[in-house]
Amino acid sequence: DAVVYWMRMEDMRICDNRALAAASAQAHSDKIPLVALFVLSPQDYIAHDRSARRVDFALRNLSYLKSRLSDLDIPLHVTVHTPRATLPSYVLSLLKAWNATRLYANIEYEVDELRRDVFVCEISRQEGISAQFVHDKLVVEPNVLHTQAGKPFAVYSPFMRKWLPELNGNIEKYLAEAPSPVANPTSVRAHPTFGNLFETKIPEYIDGFKCTDKEKMLEVWPEGMDAAREMLNRFLHTKSRGSHLGPVNQLDDGAETSSKHSRALAYKENRDRADRDTSSRLSPYLSSGVISARECIRASMELLNLKKVKADRDSGVGMWVQEIAWRDFYTHVMVSFPRVSMGRPFQEKYADVKWETNEEHLEAWKQGRTGVPIVDAAMRQANTMGWMHNRSRMIAAMYLTKDLMLDWRLGERYFMQQFIDGDLASNNGGWQWSASTGTDPQPYFRIFNPYNQSEKADPSGEYIRTFVPELSKVFGPDVHKPPPHLADKLGYPRPLVDHKEARERALRRYKNPGAE
Ligand code: FAD
Repeated sequence: DAVVYWMRMEDMRICDNRALAAASAQAHSDKIPLVALFVLSPQDYIAHDRSARRVDFALRNLSYLKSRLSDLDIPLHVTVHTPRATLPSYVLSLLKAWNATRLYANIEYEVDELRRDVFVCEISRQEGISAQFVHDKLVVEPNVLHTQAGKPFAVYSPFMRKWLPELNGNIEKYLAEAPSPVANPTSVRAHPTFGNLFETKIPEYIDGFKCTDKEKMLEVWPEGMDAAREMLNRFLHTKSRGSHLGPVNQLDDGAETSSKHSRALAYKENRDRADRDTSSRLSPYLSSGVISARECIRASMELLNLKKVKADRDSGVGMWVQEIAWRDFYTHVMVSFPRVSMGRPFQEKYADVKWETNEEHLEAWKQGRTGVPIVDAAMRQANTMGWMHNRSRMIAAMYLTKDLMLDWRLGERYFMQQFIDGDLASNNGGWQWSASTGTDPQPYFRIFNPYNQSEKADPSGEYIRTFVPELSKVFGPDVHKPPPHLADKLGYPRPLVDHKEARERALRRYKNPGAE
């Protein structure tokens, strides 16, 4: 007999993991072994445009987890399975082979995954196996918060006005740390079936997802809980040291530990600075569940010695907690309006906006050769780091959709294929917000002027100089908008489009979708 915990790509941790905690408690009370399972499903990764970087990050985390679980005498069995359509029956066959009586997993909210898990529940029940799927990914789970009219929220601010009191009224329910798993008896290692599972190998890479810059990713985004906690502490307790935009793990050598001016406390003033390393850079860890969102919120409370969650717009910590609430919000939107994860606009009236077809422009945007330095710096940051600053994501997304008038779905897909933190709900939410097809209550005429944005996000010009080497020696206003003769001399491209004309085109197209 056994209890099985099925880990997936969004809950790759041991601490504060609700399904793992429940599975462990059950195994302990039934006095049977706990076995952990991870099924790599390449077809799902193709369907979700998972980046090779994120798949590699998952494999690295699996190695880390296998060894930590093994210290608790819990085997982590990692296998690869295709086709994805037969994944439920494959998991069931493993459960039967192991004589498992119970299965535990954390809920994945994407449509395909929800359908798959419902099916897993059904077929498990037929075999007398109880399957339990629990909420874990978010701080407040979907379907709890509703508008006055009992509808799901479609705008962030009113959502937030409910999210915070709901959380503060039920702190224990939403923020309590799930207990760490109890060690299996050592005899599991000698078990004829489970003993061998300690030996299963984790593949170096998955076909079709070979990470070509693994070394760089290892340096910038180390795997495991310890790395995630280091990143969290760095954010809470250390000051941003100016413009260092390189690998995160080298950022703070000797950095002053100062709660007074820490990144967290200065977040309100500094968060939009792409040229300063001011945000937490926890998104890869949160997306893969290497650290829980609950832990982040608890840490924000401990920093200020608070009993209640602070999420106001007047403090650094409050603003940061609001960002974590954005993460909840976009997943809630995806659950309530599943069309957004099927390539449909949230606001259906924009389904017929006329997009340009221009492979050359799309390629120039992807490569960071649009001739607009801030956009190019953003795209080259994505291409080299697998991650982008939030303001850069907004600028790059707005430029693709409003200046180049290219379909937001092309950009959404490219980001997923590059990012180590790719998350369907947050990426889709960010893209649809930028394309004005989403939940932004401002109408379509919110169109960023990329040059003004550049001056605000990168006042020092350091961001552009770091990621666009052609401009590495350009200082002053020219770095934001190099004059044509200078651009030519430095081998930097001229702008693909004129912003003013492009803006007019976007306004026309959005005003009358389908007309032009
Ligand atoms: P911090 O500023 O330290 O914020 C803390 C955490 O809050 C983040 O790690 C993240 O989990 C969450 N968060 C912050 N801002 C947002 C937001 N706007 N929406 C949802 N969650 C947020 N985030 C992803 O995790 N994965 C994505 O694939 C993704 N794609 C995006 C695409 C576009 C076009 C845009 C505009 C935003 C996207 N974001 C995405 C949101 C945001 O840009 C990143 O979460 C953030 O830049 C990560 O950096 P950080 O960890 O230092 O964030």
